Amino acid sequence: MSNFSGQRTELSSIGEFGLIDRIRNMGGGFKHPNTLKSIGDDAAVIKSTDGTCLLLSTDLLAEGVHFDLSYMPLKHLGYKAVSVNVSDIAAMNGKPEQLLVSLALSNRFSVEAVEELYAGMLAACEDYSVELVGGDTTSSKSGLVISITVLGKAQEQKICYRSGAMLHDLLCVSGDLGGAFVGLQLLAREKAEWEVNPAMTPQLEAYDYLVMRQLKPTARMDMVYQFESLGLQPTSMMDISDGLASELFHLSKASGLGFRVYEDKLPIDQQTYDTAREFGLDPTTCIMNGGEDYELVFTLPQSDFEKVKNHPDISIIGHTLPMEEGLQLMSKSGQLHPIQAQGWRHF
Ligand code: ADP
Ligand code: MG
Repeated sequence: MSNFSGQRTELSSIGEFGLIDRIRNMGGGFKHPNTLKSIGDDAAVIKSTDGTCLLLSTDLLAEGVHFDLSYMPLKHLGYKAVSVNVSDIAAMNGKPEQLLVSLALSNRFSVEAVEELYAGMLAACEDYSVELVGGDTTSSKSGLVISITVLGKAQEQKICYRSGAMLHDLLCVSGDLGGAFVGLQLLAREKAEWEVNPAMTPQLEAYDYLVMRQLKPTARMDMVYQFESLGLQPTSMMDISDGLASELFHLSKASGLGFRVYEDKLPIDQQTYDTAREFGLDPTTCIMNGGEDYELVFTLPQSDFEKVKNHPDISIIGHTLPMEEGLQLMSKSGQLHPIQAQGWRHF
């Protein structure tokens, strides 16, 4: 479609993030005085009367774009759909409380299939102590679409925005990275082999960690509780859904700072490393550009160094820099490389 002046801009020319910026810059509409944060972070922040804040976030998963049912069991898909939403609440340093689930379904799905999907979602609800309180159901002509909205809470002073990083802060990530992407390569390879030879049985036992990283990621709510018990208040934070490079661009833009990342500090599981090599992939590229790990990337004041330096779930991977220094990767051989902007996703 084009507008009345006949101008037509391709979505692919500005990409997903460019489009969101354009929507945000349209201005107009109503502004509510209780909205502390609107478009531009992992969740919107709404001040409530008792001094706490509501956190509101939504994520949509579309068949063929975000998942492939030929290797994604419905139960895992349900679990993942909840996890990716809860992850955005964790990224604000908040706690999830309620969920709304909307589905568009075709008659390809049976009642039992929908129940499988819900069994996965409800298992995740138990794990994250969040209640499914409603949603919407409609028919679809093009596969399954799952849209989940999550509501969470946080004390105002505990909320971590993307914009709060300070100069000389430590740059940290939780867990290990790259596994979900390498897991996806593995599943795609098995699918391709199965299409040629349907009699084959997938040999995935040796890759259990990677497969689960892709099929059943967990939101790092445990980190939110750990921050609390360690007395840590990240200055900025977001979750890693699109790959570390892309998330660093967001943190950089929102905080007005650059970053230096040390390649030898990037956390990677041995199975991820070995399998990436088996596929002829550079493990660092899998970490920087892979995505879907749903770990947290955050900044901390240097004074917290002692608290995190030996923490088994936290890696210090770099530090902030003045904005003009940009995003830098110090390679294992000691050379500085600019971190490349992500390609356009989704369009
Ligand atoms: P995340 O990966 O953390 O879910 P996104 O990249 O999807 O975040 O979104 C970034 C920000 O843009 C969020 O604040 C989100 O609410 C907002 N956003 C995304 N899509 C739209 C849209 N179509 N209209 C308005 N805001 C949007
Ligand atoms: Mg996010």
